[in-house]
Amino acid sequence: MKTIHVNLSADSYNIYIGKDILAKVGEIVAKDKEPCKMLLITDENIEKIYGDVVAESFRQNNFDVKLLSLPPGEEQKNIENALLLYDNCFAHKLDRKSLIVALGGGVVGDLSGFIAATFMRGIPYIQIPTSLLAQVDSSIGGKVAVNHPKGKNMIGCFYQPKAVFIDTNTLSSLPSKEMVAGIAEVIKYGVIRDAELFAFMEKSMDAILQLQDEALLKIIATSCQIKANVVEQDEKEKDLRAILNYGHTIGHAIETVTHYKQYRHGEAVAIGMLYATKIAIELGIADTSVFDRQLSIMKNLGLSIQTGLKSEDIIKALYTDKKTVSGRLRFVLPTKIGEVIISDKVNDEMLYRVLDKPL
Ligand code: NAD
Ligand code: ZN
Repeated sequence: MKTIHVNLSADSYNIYIGKDILAKVGEIVAKDKEPCKMLLITDENIEKIYGDVVAESFRQNNFDVKLLSLPPGEEQKNIENALLLYDNCFAHKLDRKSLIVALGGGVVGDLSGFIAATFMRGIPYIQIPTSLLAQVDSSIGGKVAVNHPKGKNMIGCFYQPKAVFIDTNTLSSLPSKEMVAGIAEVIKYGVIRDAELFAFMEKSMDAILQLQDEALLKIIATSCQIKANVVEQDEKEKDLRAILNYGHTIGHAIETVTHYKQYRHGEAVAIGMLYATKIAIELGIADTSVFDRQLSIMKNLGLSIQTGLKSEDIIKALYTDKKTVSGRLRFVLPTKIGEVIISDKVNDEMLYRVLDKPL
């Protein structure tokens, strides 16, 4: 098992990564926390496979566990379910010393974290991410939220977990499209910060897709370390943390235009990364190999990269993003593999030029 320590000004916590961790979570948590009332939140897909093992591991360590499972899917990350979960917190008599445990993908993690952040002004919570995306991204860094009809993640805050437990075994049941979408976020970490991780992805994609232990540990631990380092330097996204949005500016616009139905998040981000790189090439700050290397990994993964969307629609959606600063678009652009800059020099004319051509 590998442990990564996240050190923030007000909180610090460990990320545990390895095989067969689910059955040990209760025991590890019990070392630092008195047994207490606990709400274990998951979704119906995950409950069937991993609900019992996690609930049992806490019960064996004398935690009073109530398991609550929601239907799967992004549309569940809403304020109505938040209210339902608060009701369950009251019914199970949780207090400020109780524990919330999120077992699942990013939807369960973001929603449960939001409940933990707001119930009685904040109670401790633990993340047990089961999708690759949640393991390398959403479970770390403390952004918690629910969606609003006006936009995704519009109601939320920053609230750090007490620990994150990543059991790489869970990936064996993850549908392959979800796996591929998660890999897109790992490619992101390579491009923004780590040429060595990127090169590893280029040469070891088969091992990753076959879920070989060492390859999984390598990509997950490296990604978590990069995210932890960035968040440690800029917890509330004042500047540096924005580099994590590489590929996300256009990625989010694609998700918005297609009403979150056509693409998984990671699939849209992959396309967004390719467009951001095209912009960097237009600006003369990156050479074509930066594009070709990313494209080649994405093709290897079977990601589809042509959208058929109108540039006009994507550009309109770009301006409604909550990350727009005073009406100016900010792009994270690669200068080479392993290094990015943040630029507000991208104008609409350049965007049309790039978006009008197929990738
Ligand atoms: P998800 O939670 O919907 O999970 C995807 C699907 O995979 C679901 O059907 C789920 O039931 C299933 N699943 C998950 N783990 C499984 C497993 N081990 N075996 C079988 N099935 C499994 O989606 P996601 O991709 O994990 O997360 C997306 C969410 O994360 C979005 O809401 C996004 O906004 C959020 N997110 C948050 C942050 C953050 O910093 N908080 C960062 C990135 C994304
Ligand atoms: Zn993302």
